[in-house]
Amino acid sequence: MELVNTHCHSRLCGHGEGEVLEYARAASDAGLSTLAFTEHYPLSEAFDPDRYLSVPADLMGRYHADVARAAAAHPAMEVLLGVELDYLGALEDRSFAPGSFDRYAIVLGSVHFIDGWAFDDPAQRGRWLEPGAPDAIWRRYGELWCDAASDASLPYTVMSHPDLAKKFGYYPSFDLGPLYRQMAEAAASAGRMVEVNTSGSYYACGEMFPAPALLREFCRAGVPATVGTDAHVPCNVARDIRQGYRALYEAGYRVVTVPTSTGDRRSITIE
Ligand SMILES: [Zn+2]
Ligand SMILES: [Zn+2]
Repeated sequence: MELVNTHCHSRLCGHGEGEVLEYARAASDAGLSTLAFTEHYPLSEAFDPDRYLSVPADLMGRYHADVARAAAAHPAMEVLLGVELDYLGALEDRSFAPGSFDRYAIVLGSVHFIDGWAFDDPAQRGRWLEPGAPDAIWRRYGELWCDAASDASLPYTVMSHPDLAKKFGYYPSFDLGPLYRQMAEAAASAGRMVEVNTSGSYYACGEMFPAPALLREFCRAGVPATVGTDAHVPCNVARDIRQGYRALYEAGYRVVTVPTSTGDRRSITIE
């Protein structure tokens, strides 16, 4: 069965290790048919003063060139150029010229910030411990995620790690079922895809993103899904892809959907 990874970083974002070419080589060695590079799109200095969360704007040319070189070095593997783009809501302080994202075969839509706070950054996790925090944070996360997913004017191809708020293992006291249904409706309404992100199993939450119940809602709503490992070191480039396919199958999916370099999508039957 064909294996793909549509979520991958490198050292260029400041918190990853290894060169683009090393990831491509590891993916080729693992037999992947598609590898999408999705580096963190540049944030402003206000959001990323230490150049630790995203690729500095002055390195984007280097990033594009590295991915082109990786594609040339591995002609048997489809290497896609993409980015992971933060949703900042009303605090968005970048201006995107028309066509800014046209060169990318895949744009991951990610909510890593809640009203300016990087809620999944281990260095900033203290706020989770304040009284009542998980309920308020999950509620606001859900609102922002649904806003991002349903706004068709935003360039997202795939909504990544849909329930990232569970990363540190903090859950709300309320039932997540209604929020899961809203998330699935939001993604479906704008024609988004979602991702099964295999990295979740290695955080405190101990399971992939999204949770099985949320993935079932996406499937029920007809939202196509892909699989990404969110590798930040080359040795993780193919980690748990088969488990990701199995999670899709158990949620009701029978195909993995993969963006292509021409802006189309193709399907892989899960065997
Ligand atoms: Zn992310
Ligand atoms: Zn990522």
